[in-house]
Amino acid sequence: MNGGIEVADLCFSYNEREILHEVTFDVQSGQLVTILGPNGSGKTTLLKCINLLLQPVGSIRVNGIDISEITSNELAKMVGYVPQMHTPAFAYRVLDVVVSGRTPYLRLSMPQKRDYELGLQILEQVGIGHLAEKSYTHLSGGELRLVLLARALIQQSRVLLLDEPTSNLDIKNRILVLKVLKGVVERGIAVVMTEHDPNLASLFSDRVLLMKNGRILRYGHVEEVLSRESIMEVYGVGVEIFRNNGSQYIFPVL
Ligand code: ADP
Repeated sequence: MNGGIEVADLCFSYNEREILHEVTFDVQSGQLVTILGPNGSGKTTLLKCINLLLQPVGSIRVNGIDISEITSNELAKMVGYVPQMHTPAFAYRVLDVVVSGRTPYLRLSMPQKRDYELGLQILEQVGIGHLAEKSYTHLSGGELRLVLLARALIQQSRVLLLDEPTSNLDIKNRILVLKVLKGVVERGIAVVMTEHDPNLASLFSDRVLLMKNGRILRYGHVEEVLSRESIMEVYGVGVEIFRNNGSQYIFPVL
């Protein structure tokens, strides 16, 4: 594989309790992969392992490099991560928060004019250029998510991991985030995100990874993975699936 992520035989335990069991999958550069699965199935744990925020057993290679053999600074240049929850502690200016994503490139120097120009450009790209001067503590939940996305994008990593990037967003901003991620993928970046809405996953993903109890139940194209049977098996709910113009739409049967 030329670029992307290769995860092989990944296991992870919290206090003796194994959460991830021999997880193996690849994501190629230029693909958007969505991880779906019920609460507690191990999605966040998997993303944290791929970013080495947790220390798993098994192998993770990014663009062919074993990430356990590189420094945390090198890893930060290769893998960007947008966490699910984040409570801003200080009233930093939004632009400064975004520019802080350049830290892996700055060594010990201060950000330069070009870093701020890049920050403004990326804030525009995610539709919140008007917030650049605002205080980080004065943002809505949705605006905060977009700032965190901008901070990850300015890292210019080849791999981007996002934990529920559309949570707390209204439908317009959900579509905005997913379109921004599509644009990122078109530039050859590998994107892996978690998402709860199977319809948004269907519309935007190149591949879907369906998890249950810390294992991959299915991985592949949307229509191969998301079927009435697999959704019943994983979520225990009945759905109907409609296909139209190459897209599929999933509706719960009440
Ligand atoms: P998901 O993202 O799919 O909701 P998580 O990866 O957050 O699932 O959690 C997977 C399992 O790991 C759950 O059973 C959860 O209770 C457990 N878990 C998550 N974080 C911790 C932790 N810090 N300590 C112990 N167990 C945890």
